[in-house]
Amino acid sequence: MLARVLLVASEAIPLVKTGGLADVITALASALRDQNVDATVLMPAYPSALEGATGLREVATLEHLPGGPGRLLHGCMPDSDIRIVLLDTESFRARSANPYLDQSGEEYADNALSFAALAHAAVAICAGRTKLPKPHVVHANDWHAGLVPALLRANGVTDVGSVLTIHNLAFQGNYPMDLAARIGLPDEMLTADAVEFWGQISFLKAGIRYADRISTVSNSYAQEILTPRFGHGMDGVLNYRKEALVAIPNAVDTALWNPAGDALIARRFTQSDMKGKIACKWDLQKQFDLPVDPFAPLLALGSRITHQKMADVALLALPEILARHPRLQVAVLGRGDHGYEQGFKQLAEQFPERVGVHIGYDEQRAHALHAGADMLLHGTRFEPYGLTPIYSMRYGTIPVASRVGGLIDTIVDAGASGAVQEGANGILFDGELPSDMVEGMDRAFGLFARSAEWQTMQRNAMAADFSWSGPAQQYISLYEQIAPEHARKLFARQAPATQPRITGSSGATRALPRIRVGRFSHA
Ligand code: ADP
Repeated sequence: MLARVLLVASEAIPLVKTGGLADVITALASALRDQNVDATVLMPAYPSALEGATGLREVATLEHLPGGPGRLLHGCMPDSDIRIVLLDTESFRARSANPYLDQSGEEYADNALSFAALAHAAVAICAGRTKLPKPHVVHANDWHAGLVPALLRANGVTDVGSVLTIHNLAFQGNYPMDLAARIGLPDEMLTADAVEFWGQISFLKAGIRYADRISTVSNSYAQEILTPRFGHGMDGVLNYRKEALVAIPNAVDTALWNPAGDALIARRFTQSDMKGKIACKWDLQKQFDLPVDPFAPLLALGSRITHQKMADVALLALPEILARHPRLQVAVLGRGDHGYEQGFKQLAEQFPERVGVHIGYDEQRAHALHAGADMLLHGTRFEPYGLTPIYSMRYGTIPVASRVGGLIDTIVDAGASGAVQEGANGILFDGELPSDMVEGMDRAFGLFARSAEWQTMQRNAMAADFSWSGPAQQYISLYEQIAPEHARKLFARQAPATQPRITGSSGATRALPRIRVGRFSHA
């Protein structure tokens, strides 16, 4: 028998994606399966998921979910043996490209009930109330699945371990208190030391409070979220649970983001033969209506265009950066806040032939961007992990990024001046002012002019190991600690000698203590 894990999430590529969460869920499920853990993904049956999934068959009808009845459909990811369970409800079926916001950019009014339904569906599976086998561990991801640990507790399901992974603490799922009864939260959970958060119900806080373990996706972010600056109001409850807080760094799908085998780029290349990158630059310049010029430094920006990603700062800094570096070209790919999107369109008008902007979500263009650019500008006010700079590094595109969160762990800064630091693969800058970004870009240009050093940085960037096998093993160790007694040996067979680390009170990391299933250290 294999160890069984149910991953509960709102997104998974290629079925639905708005950000890095989607990449992580599918890659983790795949890596767990490679290591003989039977991982299944439970997610909403958005139209794109219903369309993309294969071999769907009904495995349960759930009559009494918040917001109306639903059914569970079991099948597979397209072209893969990753198993998925889709929660099919009227509400999820009605959603379009962005599963959280309606056409006018407003949050769907029934989000609270819809994602509460997702959590109830997870509990039904964990309680053995469907035709699916009971998992040994349920792994809830972000606020969308935050209610799962609380509802397991409320429903007396004690023989399934629970993990909550925080992929982004800024998104919390906070909703009016008067929905509590419809959501299925008992009165005793509606207090400040449980799920209440500034007078509301917080789905994320429910997960933080009741999960057996809480994990987040980089060591630095795990430290940061315990502080008021990065805690988004949750630093109090996180400190309360810090003995259960673990950092397991993300990784990337190294087959999908691979310059040597990428079917979405103009020409493939490797560390030892970079000729293909020149063709990719040519292609990127064409795609963004920029003059084809192999010698013009080409800067990419590719992300959600939001306040988190410092779009406001970039809009102020870029005119100055363009003025200081007259040959520079800029290619921008993203979507997000309409005001910032407009700002980038205006920038392109202001600097024709130097700034190319594509507003939208486009997987092919994202690959072209990372492959063809020389540098990636990635300002961000906080960053749980930061997949985008890693994708760029895989293609020898040097990130110029904020010194926050996961970026501190993955980017080795070249240093302020003089010789490039050993192992450097990028540039980190401090601060949130346009001048901070301009200074970071000045340093990048200084290095770009020194081609031997630049090439060393490119090689370092391309050689770094960001594969999933290590992190997947760390998750398996974590699951082993919280699985029911009889199932631990199933995880132990797959678990490595090294244990995941917890943040701890002193800031130093140390191995997790074992806890008994059904007991909560802060109950
Ligand atoms: P976050 O999850 O905060 O958005 P990450 O950098 O960790 O940030 O992950 C973002 C993911 O979304 C990456 O896979 C990135 O390539 C992708 N992405 C973001 N915006 C776009 C876009 N406009 N087109 C294509 N891919 C995008």
